[in-house]
Amino acid sequence: MQIINQLANLRTAIAALRTNQRRVALVPTMGALHEGHLKLVREAKARADVVVVSIFVNPTQFGPNEDLAAYPRTLEADCEKLAPLDVDIVWSPSVGEMYPEGFATKVHVEGPSAGFCGGARPGHFDGVALVVTKLFNQVGADVACFGEKDFQQLAVIRQFVRDLGINIEIVGVPTMRDADGLALSSRNAYLSAEHRQAAVALPNALKAAAKAISEGEDVAAATTRATDAILAAGFSSIDYFALADAVTLAPVSEPGVRPLRLLAAARIGKTRLIDNIAV
Ligand code: AMP
Repeated sequence: MQIINQLANLRTAIAALRTNQRRVALVPTMGALHEGHLKLVREAKARADVVVVSIFVNPTQFGPNEDLAAYPRTLEADCEKLAPLDVDIVWSPSVGEMYPEGFATKVHVEGPSAGFCGGARPGHFDGVALVVTKLFNQVGADVACFGEKDFQQLAVIRQFVRDLGINIEIVGVPTMRDADGLALSSRNAYLSAEHRQAAVALPNALKAAAKAISEGEDVAAATTRATDAILAAGFSSIDYFALADAVTLAPVSEPGVRPLRLLAAARIGKTRLIDNIAV
């Protein structure tokens, strides 16, 4: 496994591995790897001959009052987790390598970026779209794997890949959860023992509301019951808990025939957790 932090070296390494039309897969991450990330890597391995995992805590997707400085950076431990999975390259550029002096380009995606995390975190998805576009160009992968855990992110990426005609297959991988149902997240490390226990109220409320809505209950009533349960469990506030079209992420108040997704973000202690479920 090669650990590379300069673009010129990345290009040389990929050119050497891409012989005989071998397929290249990319798994973009911000590190602090857990089993959810490793599931993406296994999926990538099953779909390609060469696997590149990027580890880059991307400053452009963090707002001014967010946890950029505190975000866990654990490159050595991350590489120890990736080596046994037969990863070919860990692409771990510095901020200066990714955004050199004089960098002046933005990528702005409308449509699925609106609302939800896009509303609560202005500029977040522009930062995601920018770094993911760069990663796609740097690696030149045939396929890239992303988690459904960040469902809006996945929708935004599918949108700009389609809009910009980027020649890459986007694979969405189902969310990996702890035994009690909490979605694995690098941010779970911020939770106290008490908050960790209470946090399961978020997936439980999503599951209950999805079931109620699919059985015909009124969306507003199911949503109110879910948000009440989340707050009663010890969450301090809810950024959103809402039903949306699973492709466009447009809010939906009456279920129809299109696939739907229930999405939620809520704060417990100082931590903001997100999760979502198919309806
Ligand atoms: P992050 O390092 O948080 O930016 O996440 C990197 C990738 O891992 C994204 O595509 C996430 O959606 C995905 N991911 C994060 N948590 C999980 C999880 N619990 N299950 C599956 N994929 C995940």
